[in-house]
Amino acid sequence: MQILTKGNLTDKLFSLYNQLLAQHGHRKWWPADTPFEVALGAILTQATSWRNVEKALDNLRAAGAFTPEEIDSVSQSALERLLRPSRYFRMKAQKVRAFVEHIKARPMPLMFTQDVPELREELLSIYGVGPETADTIILYAAGKPSFVVDSYTYRLFSRLGWVEGNYDYAKLRALFMDNLPHDVDLFNEYHALIVGHGARVCHKRTPNCQECRLRTSCAYYKASEEQMSG
Ligand code: SF4
Repeated sequence: MQILTKGNLTDKLFSLYNQLLAQHGHRKWWPADTPFEVALGAILTQATSWRNVEKALDNLRAAGAFTPEEIDSVSQSALERLLRPSRYFRMKAQKVRAFVEHIKARPMPLMFTQDVPELREELLSIYGVGPETADTIILYAAGKPSFVVDSYTYRLFSRLGWVEGNYDYAKLRALFMDNLPHDVDLFNEYHALIVGHGARVCHKRTPNCQECRLRTSCAYYKASEEQMSG
């Protein structure tokens, strides 16, 4: 993946942020009440929709298996049953179990005393925690500045013409980490706005460009206009 945008990337990223904010307003994220619930959601949302995650979280809540201690006392087959709506539920049950095992020895408040690089390294060492999950936990559970990117980010930035080539999580994250102040509120809101824009306007199959404030600077929109006119 290559970054195509030139010039002052900090200014450009802030300009994009302001346009997204003007379009969608402040988003309230992440949808969870406790740091552990953030981590659970971040693991369960891998390769599935948030709607399915909510069903699995509801199952856990209803079964009284919603804290690390409660999950620890549930059998693996029962955990799999509760997580069934979240797809790949066997693997996800193993991942949740691995996370719970880890925080038994290293409770989250203790892990969260570390700076971002060390915390990220520790999270990435846990089975089932990849970069997106680790950054979600760091930003939304620990409240520390680690930018989260995802397929919505890649889709938006590809269409805008900022990047080209295959999705590369590390490179896309570096675009934000290297060019924005490391501010938790900014990172929190920016990621939420990108996800909101992808879910509401810049849809996967048919983006709703007429409703989009970014269209005057969007490569995808310009190309589709040119195609239509001739
Ligand atoms: S103009 Fe269309 S393709 Fe471009 S960002 Fe907006 S919705 Fe997406």
